[in-house]
Amino acid sequence: MNKTLLPGKTIGIIGGGQLGQMMALSAKEMGYKVLILDPQPNCSAAQVSDGQIVAEYDDLDKLVELAKACDVLTYEFENVNAQAIEEVKKYTEVPQGTKALSVTQNRISEKDFIEQSGFKVVPHIVIDNIFEYHRGVEKLGAPVILKTIRGGYDGKGQILIDDPENVCYADIEHLLMQGTCILEKKINLKKEVSVVVSANSQGDTSIFPVIENVHRHNILHLSTCPAQISSQSEHHIYQVGETLAKKLELVGTMCIEFFISDNDEVYVNEIAPRPHNSGHLTIEACNLSQFEAHVRGVCNLPMPKVQLFKTAAMINLLGQHLENAKNQWPVHPEWHFHDYGKDAVKKNRKMGHITILSEDLAATKQAIENNSIWDV
Ligand code: ADP
Ligand code: MG
Repeated sequence: MNKTLLPGKTIGIIGGGQLGQMMALSAKEMGYKVLILDPQPNCSAAQVSDGQIVAEYDDLDKLVELAKACDVLTYEFENVNAQAIEEVKKYTEVPQGTKALSVTQNRISEKDFIEQSGFKVVPHIVIDNIFEYHRGVEKLGAPVILKTIRGGYDGKGQILIDDPENVCYADIEHLLMQGTCILEKKINLKKEVSVVVSANSQGDTSIFPVIENVHRHNILHLSTCPAQISSQSEHHIYQVGETLAKKLELVGTMCIEFFISDNDEVYVNEIAPRPHNSGHLTIEACNLSQFEAHVRGVCNLPMPKVQLFKTAAMINLLGQHLENAKNQWPVHPEWHFHDYGKDAVKKNRKMGHITILSEDLAATKQAIENNSIWDV
């Protein structure tokens, strides 16, 4: 698609969680109409959109209905059925295509693609059964992490094996029963960082400053920007971002997660072919957000050069944090408070986030560290 879709046109989004909500908010700001497809009535994204089709993500009839009702179709999560997308392409523009989806839906094809592009991934072995698991542990040497190749997120579908003599085989067998897995060497992490890249159909890109990420129990806890890394690592990360965007024929926003090891090796961890939790701080900290960049990309609008106005920190609000954070907000004028409007509050479920623009990132991080909200 090379034509530009101007305000007034309709954007259809498959998936109605917080990423869809923030995409929709950006699109509405620019004057687009937005339709959401999600099984949850009045989901986060539908609350700020023009309409919702309540249906499962793989309901082909309903996807076709959505496609017919919109001028361009996009998605907010990576486990969309690529075949279904091919099918609905008959009825509307799907400028993102399916290449990025199909490469990143499977950890093996994702890692192969990254390596073929000339970049380093963590040493890993494909595992189909318990014998291969034992051989893999011997070859890589503990600690290792067993991961399902499909559908994992926020550390789900992963088992850390610190001591191979002391593992729960039932858990390992259970994960292997779900399908092929990979065994990854556990890296001694110095830092985790990510880079968000967006592109339009002409291949013009906007690349955001590198973000530094802290996870707790494998769930993103804190993101800060700019990342405190060497200029050499930063240069390499931008190069990875630009190269992978081109090779994936990126349209819209994607995010690449990296590991930096204690001996300063940079590994590509994984690619999210959509806006990413670590990029939420771009809403307040940059001249355009990762969501605006996504909408610009899929509508084939021009892609601006990204400017970071101020250093920033973003902290996630999980189910166990939300109530206390709301109660504290009145005494924190510096908080940019985001509540995704989800009705079911659950432990470890992402319910919202807070962004703080800061002159002194170290002090901001310390204040977060000292705040009891995030003790649980
Ligand atoms: P998800 O799809 O759940 O985001 P990831 O592979 O990104 O899966 O793993 C989640 C988190 O677990 C990472 O951000 C990192 O903190 C930790 N992790 C995963 N793999 C490794 C590894 N090989 N070495 C060290 N830490 C890891
Ligand atoms: Mg990840």
